[in-house]
Amino acid sequence: MEENKFIIHGIQYDMMIDHCSLYLPYEACGILAGRNNEVDSIWKLENELKSDRRFFISKNKIEDTVREISKQGKDILAIYHSHPTTTPVPSYLDIVNHPDPSVKLVIVSYKLNVLKVKCYDISNGLYKERPFSITPTH
Ligand SMILES: [Zn+2]
Repeated sequence: MEENKFIIHGIQYDMMIDHCSLYLPYEACGILAGRNNEVDSIWKLENELKSDRRFFISKNKIEDTVREISKQGKDILAIYHSHPTTTPVPSYLDIVNHPDPSVKLVIVSYKLNVLKVKCYDISNGLYKERPFSITPTH
């Protein structure tokens, strides 16, 4: 068995895609939480900038969400956002604004005809693709 495998449950994966698709043409973002590298809950955040290139969420909103997640005994495993017009590669700002190397970065890109979802580890100003698997929805 592969150690440290990153798993996103199908339901949360679909909810993430729906959130990003519904939010077009703007950039959407949110938090994927769970336990032991397995995502089992999703926390959609509102992009207060209504931009297709950047997002901004107030500090209060983030703190409330982080508190709620830990109250439920879960960890923040990844932060996701969409790239409505660019490839699924972290931008310079994505990297410098990334809050914590233990949290993964997921990008949902609409640049190409086929939707692309990529996951990355971010540390020391560098990104590295992190494969993930999606559990089937029952
Ligand atoms: Zn980005």
